[in-house]
Amino acid sequence: MFAAEMKAYDATITADNIGEKVTGLLVGIIQTSAGLVPKNELAIQRQAHLAVDLKSKYGDYLFGETSGYCPFPGCGRELGVMSTGRVQRVYEVGLIDKSKGLEPSNLLAMCPQCHATYLLDSNKKLMKELLNVKRMLSAHHQSVHLLDDLPLEKGIIGVIGKISKLGEKDLEGASLDPKEIKQKLSPAKDAAIYILVNGYVTAYFLKIREIMTNLDKRGEIDYDEMQDQIHAMYKRLKKVHKSRMEIFNEIVGRIHRITLQDEVYCQIVVSYFIQSCEVFDAITE
Ligand SMILES: [Zn+2]
Repeated sequence: MFAAEMKAYDATITADNIGEKVTGLLVGIIQTSAGLVPKNELAIQRQAHLAVDLKSKYGDYLFGETSGYCPFPGCGRELGVMSTGRVQRVYEVGLIDKSKGLEPSNLLAMCPQCHATYLLDSNKKLMKELLNVKRMLSAHHQSVHLLDDLPLEKGIIGVIGKISKLGEKDLEGASLDPKEIKQKLSPAKDAAIYILVNGYVTAYFLKIREIMTNLDKRGEIDYDEMQDQIHAMYKRLKKVHKSRMEIFNEIVGRIHRITLQDEVYCQIVVSYFIQSCEVFDAITE
């Protein structure tokens, strides 16, 4: 379908050669703008149209997928700049596997510099890295979308506010030995989150339970409701077979987006809910 539309730019485009042809057109844009190849007006216009077209078709989606930063390995530049009081998006849409078609799954938004570099690059290793980046971005995007309609009590902001004020003295003498964490996270398979969660639960669990109980009594949060909400997020991510690491990060990310509190405190909250059994079931395999 796209091949038919692309005929406007180049009459020799077919479904089979579209990837190659489009890459050719895009390379031409870069070479022309770098002064490498003199082009006739018509060819330049076609290339410019194609770039605009790709952006207008998939730009918003692909830009959203990057969260506004160039995903090219080792780059990380911001893809938006403030200019005369307005945010302007500065990015290009690139084809990842140049032998394949123009599906969104094969397109990636990146900064103009990386875009130019990659167009002139035929390194297969780099292409594999980019495919991997794309897979991670899509998986994260999917999770964000999955959790979007699930409610989370605003009272969680108050809980995190109180957690952030806890000092070493407050935590002293209130530590817990969370043996059960081993039933939900394997120290061998998920070492990093096991160590993280185990540490947070040991230090914070009892204090957080106290904070939650007090806020619940004062009617500032509905503790049962909050447990159900966190459990609903877990169930949704588990259903689409996200890994334990992904599930942990995505719930942390969502709490962070809702509360705008530091991620570390959001991790402490999710660790609490792991110990209290809303997140993760006992390992059965
Ligand atoms: Zn870049």
